[in-house]
Amino acid sequence: MNIATRLHLLDAVRRSTQADSARAAAPRAAARARKVVAAALGEVRRCEQQLAAARGQERLAAAEELVTARNAYAAQARRERDARAAVRRTFTAARAANRTLAAQYAPYARSRDTGGRRRSAVAASLLDELAAMPLDLIRAADVLAVHSSGGKDSVVMLHRLVAWAEKAGCKHKIVVVHCDLGDTSEWPGVRELAQRQAERYGLRFVAVDSTGGLLGLVEKRGMFPDAARRLCTSSLKRDKANVLLTAIVAALGLTRQAIVINCLGLRADESPARSRKAPLSVDTRTSNSKKLVLAWHPILQTTEAEVWQEIAGSGLEYHPAYDALMPRLSCVFCVLAGFNVLVRAVRLCWALDLPLPEQYTDLEARIGHRFKEQYSLADVVAEAARVQAEEGPLTWRPGDAIRDQLGESAAADYLDRIALAA
Ligand code: SF4
Repeated sequence: MNIATRLHLLDAVRRSTQADSARAAAPRAAARARKVVAAALGEVRRCEQQLAAARGQERLAAAEELVTARNAYAAQARRERDARAAVRRTFTAARAANRTLAAQYAPYARSRDTGGRRRSAVAASLLDELAAMPLDLIRAADVLAVHSSGGKDSVVMLHRLVAWAEKAGCKHKIVVVHCDLGDTSEWPGVRELAQRQAERYGLRFVAVDSTGGLLGLVEKRGMFPDAARRLCTSSLKRDKANVLLTAIVAALGLTRQAIVINCLGLRADESPARSRKAPLSVDTRTSNSKKLVLAWHPILQTTEAEVWQEIAGSGLEYHPAYDALMPRLSCVFCVLAGFNVLVRAVRLCWALDLPLPEQYTDLEARIGHRFKEQYSLADVVAEAARVQAEEGPLTWRPGDAIRDQLGESAAADYLDRIALAA
């Protein structure tokens, strides 16, 4: 099966998945509409009784109220009819999408373990095959959107992708996308670093601004996000990057569906949730008839030690926060970080003279919502003050991250390389 056929089948999987989601959602919407229409009818009955009981001047007002209630009921009844029609329509559409997928897949099913029986098995089999052929995947793509935080994993992913894309003759397809959450969320210089990392390979770099960043989001919602409701990632990063991708695809002016590959530097050993990710998946949330979006995790199986070896061996520039032994280049106060990492972040803010600890603890007090259920940021700051009193201010040297991971001589080699490249 050639790559175009595989992608075509994946789009059929995407269509049937989306059609099934719509079919599952339609009866729920219809049930909600039935409740609303029943309430509107109840209001009509109440107004009718009120009018029957009204006398003199009251009758006029009661009659007007009844007209309003009847109009509202008519509007809701129309919506309920539409919702019922949507149930029938989505059922038919889902059946058709599933039949199309089965018919398209049947000729290829025999030679596969999946036997073509289940849609998820069809998709998994196709995606596994595609993930194992990165050069073909890159050739088939119209856009390779490399999502870069500027962190260690992003720069290693970028380095590998550029090597593959050069081999495939497709480097021009890469766009490095950086979501900039601003200086109330991130360490100084992150955006500039992400740009330099892209420019090292002569790549197009686009920064997406998330006005207000994490601080603004918390202020607006009156609460901090958490692992279960990571609104920060979706609203500050994913949704904004998707708008950009739509514009990039539109600018291509294609008359067929575009193939967009979102490249993300997640690694399996970062968390149990990440270890369950597939190397390649269809992004059914953002795919549509204009673009088939695949999420690709090219360094999923790479370990942290391998990341640092590649950074050291290839002389890749990384952020100085790593030298202060921050494990990730996330938001300064990432809602997913552990207590000790947050304590270190507070001490690093003090060392860099950043006002973020006060800004965040003030916000926490103002909204009356703790940074985490188990502890507040005020607790974190108190612990940072205690550690600081014992150990003194945080200090670090250039190359400490590599020294810590790979030893003194690797750090010395790395620093020599960086100095030569400067
Ligand atoms: S780095 Fe942490 S706090 Fe910032 S957007 Fe991501 S999950 Fe949210």
